Amino acid sequence: MAPKIYTSQFPSVPVHDRSLFTHLFHSTPGTNNVGGYDGSLPAFVDAPTGTTITRVQLKQLALQLGAGLRAHPALNAKRGDTVLIYSANSLTWPVVLFGSVAAGLRCTLANSAYNERELAFQYTDSGARLVFTSEDGAAVVRATLKSLGLSEREADKRIIVMTNGLDWVGGPAAPIKLEVSKLVKVADLLKFGALKEEEKFDRQLANETTYLCYSSGTTGKPKGVETTHRNITSVLDMVKPAFPPLDLAVDRLIGVLPFYHIYGAIKLLHFPFTCGAPVVIMARFDPVQFCANLDRYKITVALVVPPILVVLARHPAVEQYDISSLGRICSGAAPLGAALSKQVIDRLTPKRKGQPPMIIIQGYGLTETSPTTHLVLDKDAQRKVGSAGILLPNLEARLVVDGDGDGNIDAAEGERGEIWVRGPSIMKGYLNNPTATKDSITPDGWFKTGDIAYRDSDGYYFIVDRRKELIKYKGFQVPPAELESVLLTHPDIADTAVIGVNSAREATELPRAYVVHARPDTVKTDAQKAAFAQSVKKWIEGKVARHKFLRGGVVLIDVIPKSAAGKILRRELRERAKEELAGR
Ligand code: AMP
Repeated sequence: MAPKIYTSQFPSVPVHDRSLFTHLFHSTPGTNNVGGYDGSLPAFVDAPTGTTITRVQLKQLALQLGAGLRAHPALNAKRGDTVLIYSANSLTWPVVLFGSVAAGLRCTLANSAYNERELAFQYTDSGARLVFTSEDGAAVVRATLKSLGLSEREADKRIIVMTNGLDWVGGPAAPIKLEVSKLVKVADLLKFGALKEEEKFDRQLANETTYLCYSSGTTGKPKGVETTHRNITSVLDMVKPAFPPLDLAVDRLIGVLPFYHIYGAIKLLHFPFTCGAPVVIMARFDPVQFCANLDRYKITVALVVPPILVVLARHPAVEQYDISSLGRICSGAAPLGAALSKQVIDRLTPKRKGQPPMIIIQGYGLTETSPTTHLVLDKDAQRKVGSAGILLPNLEARLVVDGDGDGNIDAAEGERGEIWVRGPSIMKGYLNNPTATKDSITPDGWFKTGDIAYRDSDGYYFIVDRRKELIKYKGFQVPPAELESVLLTHPDIADTAVIGVNSAREATELPRAYVVHARPDTVKTDAQKAAFAQSVKKWIEGKVARHKFLRGGVVLIDVIPKSAAGKILRRELRERAKEELAGR
């Protein structure tokens, strides 16, 4: 039977076969125009200090940083090399990212909460050589590189410190700690002049990888997602018809999502820049600081994850500050319930006296799709509450019922199936992993998302389930396979399986481990079982980044349910968890 292919309601947009840097920063000779807008407009603002970089300054700083990466004798970076960025959000981030892109480097973005083990994996797997890190992260990077067999001297030659002091833009300089005094700093790289022009990735070279974020995909451990120049330039233009134009006289965005996740990277560091609007950067989410910055900078647009909406619905800070400028919220990276959306609207709309009511929309996508594939239109925000959106231009979608079988049967109109998408923003593949790539992208280009959805008669998609193993804690990926392999190193654990359980209160999933004790006769009473579960919960905290903590609990079990082929029956465990947690 012919597949049932859904196309976008939007006309296709042109796909540009050019370098990402050129796409963002192209300028007409003899003008002050950068990327289609006045170069003197602010591009990024540091929330605590108010320090601002304009569009033209950002381009100049990036070309300088690119020159420094090339020319600094200790670094000697070349086109195609990979640099790892390990830092919380800062004003230095866009300079480092776009400077590396200008020099033709690939950037792999690592969670700033990673420990040495997690960082060592990504550093090695991505083939990175240099690491940009904040002052706070330098000690972890040094220890990571030493754990990989480098001497301290060798390790230090690979680290570049993103000073938090903003001294390179003339702001107040923070004292450099002794710890990093002998390391190369971003400011040092700005002293080598500037690249005359960026490295070009035109025509077929636009298919070269520029970013490597990590995702576990449908199964297993994190894998490097090869996102190309063409993937990003396409998605930036594909989102525009679905996102109402920003008013440059008033619109400002808050940059609170982490830039190391593709959602923050693309939707905060790239997309607003292509619309000419500034982003006010916060290092990390804090409810009071968040509300204070909404007020101080008169923020109009916020891109968030559902747990931030919980804060807007309930936190007292919302009453302490005037956040009436905030008129549009776009939530992504995890499901957003209709009830929470309504609570936020009911609380914030009355504050907007005389202004249009608050609008909350959802977007949907994956690291592998660069990321957005679906967005709710503003005009449908109320009518389609709970939907993940309609398909963006240039994309096709299928809802497949039996993706693993030979049939690849498409769901009937209105019925649920796994979302498959095809188009110019789908990743090239998983780095050095042809098997995982082949399992996730069909020979005719369909990418299997692992998410189950239905599509209504207006073309709106509603995500209802997940076919893949992935757990999402507050929008962050928690690959069960990774936690399971760490748990299996515990001397008292014979077998284990990790699943996600829902917390409506926090609007997130929480990782929950089922464990089989290696010597069951030592944990017979309820008290012994509870003590052991508690000790495992504490133990894992020393082994993984915070978002992977077992907040959903640890439960002792006699045997992990598995199929005849040895595959963990996670659905069975999810049902069991629902019963265990019911009524709590
Ligand atoms: P990541 O690659 O970390 O961006 O994670 C992608 C996954 O997040 C998707 O496959 C979904 O399972 C989930 N996700 C993203 N956006 C949404 C949404 N709006 N609703 C439900 N799940 C979402």
